[in-house]
Amino acid sequence: MKYETVIGLEVHAEMQTRSKMFCGCAVVDSTRALPNTAVCPVCAGMPGVLPVVNRQAVEFALRVALALECDVARTSLFARKNYFYPDLPKGYQISQYEYPLAERGRLVIDAGAGERLIRVRRVHLEEDTGKLTHVERDGQSYSLIDLNRSGVALLEIVSEPDMRSPDEARAYAETLRAILRALGVNSGDMEKGVIRFEANVSLRPAGSGELGTRVEIKNLNSFRALERSIAYEAQRQAAVLDAGGRVEQETLGWDEPEGKTFSQRSKEEAHDYRYFPEPDLPPLVVEPEWVQQVRAALPELPRARAQRFVREYDLPAGDAALLAADNDLAAYFEAVLRAAPDVAPRAAANWLLGEVFGWLNASGQRIDELLLPPGGLADLLERVARGEINAPTAKAVLSEMLTSGSGAAGVIEARGLAQITDGAEIARLVGEAIAAHPVELERYLAGKDSLAQWFFGRVMQLAGKRAHPAILRAELERQLAEKRRG
Ligand code: ADP
Ligand code: MG
Ligand code: ZN
Repeated sequence: MKYETVIGLEVHAEMQTRSKMFCGCAVVDSTRALPNTAVCPVCAGMPGVLPVVNRQAVEFALRVALALECDVARTSLFARKNYFYPDLPKGYQISQYEYPLAERGRLVIDAGAGERLIRVRRVHLEEDTGKLTHVERDGQSYSLIDLNRSGVALLEIVSEPDMRSPDEARAYAETLRAILRALGVNSGDMEKGVIRFEANVSLRPAGSGELGTRVEIKNLNSFRALERSIAYEAQRQAAVLDAGGRVEQETLGWDEPEGKTFSQRSKEEAHDYRYFPEPDLPPLVVEPEWVQQVRAALPELPRARAQRFVREYDLPAGDAALLAADNDLAAYFEAVLRAAPDVAPRAAANWLLGEVFGWLNASGQRIDELLLPPGGLADLLERVARGEINAPTAKAVLSEMLTSGSGAAGVIEARGLAQITDGAEIARLVGEAIAAHPVELERYLAGKDSLAQWFFGRVMQLAGKRAHPAILRAELERQLAEKRRG
């Protein structure tokens, strides 16, 4: 490796407050609400209106800042970031600039070989812009503006340039998303664009301590786009450097279908936003008592929860991380364990990550939309643990429970799926299987021991896969031994 890739991320997350950042308009689901139905003079950028800070937004930002172990500023300032753009009617965005709400945090990620600590430079408050849609109609081009999103509270989280591969950037982004969700600050619905990334990427000679010239890739709204665009840039820049050229500092877009970055503007055309303190808002003062309260009320975060799952339930680290990443999923898992004391946590985790995850992926449901309550899954797994049904049968039962919402008992009863444990019944099936295969029996008696396993399979088939395996095995051994004695 001749070059080292250096990456710093800027993450924008919409906060799920009920009202917008500086006015009383409702925050609506942009994919459902009619355009321009949640708009007032403040968020439409009318002259002379006055913004008022949303307290809940500040509290959400504090949660994130504290979860990322930042220093919270007692006093921070809002600033005007001036630029003209059709989705920003007032001609400036209220943001924070020189004095952000919080600085100097950190985020631990799991990437490749082990843990990595990524420093967080700052966390600050701002507002979102409106949304433009470009359409063609009757041979004419139109741009439509929806201001429902204008003024929605946004959080910007900026990392130090501490990541070294597309993988690490992805791990950072995913870990951050899981934290935002666990804190109740952001839904994490990437498809709805509630989290957006900007990746700053540069190369430097391996071993160098200096930073190379960076490009900034704007508007990445999936983990895949984030990872691919960084990988593409690292290769492109390496080729430029190999050819003796210099990387130009510029702002890039990402063409997803083409899998390429493209230039949006160079350093020369860089915006000068003419930041200045927002004259319509007083300094934001956050008293230490409030910070203390927010800190004390922080929920268990995904990483700590995963570590607890490993400790308390002896789960493999990877499984623990998957189950702990999401509040609803983690709560579901622990509810199953509480309701199924005889089921090993590892087994419960396997059922959840295997069968139930498979169902969620296939159906597009979220765990809180499942027709199967944790108690229902617990009941099914208890039946497996007791030997009432075996694992293959349980899978079939589970799939019906997931589709229909029925309980395990009902499905087992209705489909006659209970495991056969009756010794006499099993003895009859074994006898039948042996009698039906005299040639195989001859060969077994002549010394081909492995045919015992073959007979096991025959009996299972006769039993519709429902025979209790241990009882079957014992009975088969008994009858074969009898034949051997003559
Ligand atoms: P801006 O984009 O607002 O001009 P900054 O200089 O604050 O801002 O940097 C923004 C992001 O770029 C940060 O995440 C930072 O870590 C990252 N960054 C800065 N320099 C480099 C570099 N040489 N290579 C990669 N990332 C960088
Ligand atoms: Mg930037
Ligand atoms: Zn409004």
